[in-house]
Amino acid sequence: MYISSNNLRTKILRHGGPIRVNFGGFVPLSTIDWRGRSVCTLFLRGCPIRCSYCQNEAIQEGEDYRDIDEIMLMITESAPYVSGVVFSGGEPTLQKDALVSLAQRVKGMGLAVGLQTNGMFPETLAALIDGQLVDRIALDYKTQWEGFSGIEPGMGCGTGENYRKNVDRSIALCRKAGREGRLKEFEVVVTVFYENADYIREISEKIGSIPFVLQQGEHKIGRANRTAPDITHGEYICTKRNLQANHPPLTLKELKKIADELGRTVRIRTREIGEISYESDWRRRAPRKRKR
Ligand code: SF4
Repeated sequence: MYISSNNLRTKILRHGGPIRVNFGGFVPLSTIDWRGRSVCTLFLRGCPIRCSYCQNEAIQEGEDYRDIDEIMLMITESAPYVSGVVFSGGEPTLQKDALVSLAQRVKGMGLAVGLQTNGMFPETLAALIDGQLVDRIALDYKTQWEGFSGIEPGMGCGTGENYRKNVDRSIALCRKAGREGRLKEFEVVVTVFYENADYIREISEKIGSIPFVLQQGEHKIGRANRTAPDITHGEYICTKRNLQANHPPLTLKELKKIADELGRTVRIRTREIGEISYESDWRRRAPRKRKR
């Protein structure tokens, strides 16, 4: 079954009257959310997925509706210092009407529009691309291990199978838009842990020549995750420390080794050094199985 954000919008977004935005947060100036640009970043609240490591779990759910004019005032105050606006979340494409309307206004100010998405709602991406409202899309591809199988049932999104279908549609339409010159920048990002390294080759082969980013993952337990609903804050901190001590993030060297096995140039993002471009050592590429 194909899931549309329309199902969710009726529940989450419509409060009557002008479009309102379920607000998650705002960073007035960022130099890390769009390579080569100073931007402001708007976080839209709500996400149907429950990644085990989510850095923004506080805005996975809940309501903080604001008038779109209030949001635009924040952006307007940042405008003299930035050349673009990045929409992040949560999952920003969940709020299709609000996102499209915000992107229209941002474009009208002469600013570029960037989007960070998990790819769950391709029809929102289509609306943005068709309206020439987005310049850059970074699609964060979730693997089954990370938790798209833990999609929140109450959000009506169904199973992980829907995520796979939807993200494939999102990639296909961004790839096509890129080829046709309607989308200037598109990249696929994966957050890499020891446990999901096996999925990386599969994703790399699926996306072909689309720029690929390997992002260092950091273990985290999700308080909003239904696997740990009742723990205290102290228990949460303690469990997180133990988890991080026993399962430290992959090192830069280990991430490079994964890139070598993929046999492709990637960008590698780590907490220690930020982001680099890495040209893999093709001699170390793992042999591919012959297709019969
Ligand atoms: S897709 Fe995952 S990491 Fe992104 S906001 Fe949702 S739960 Fe967090």
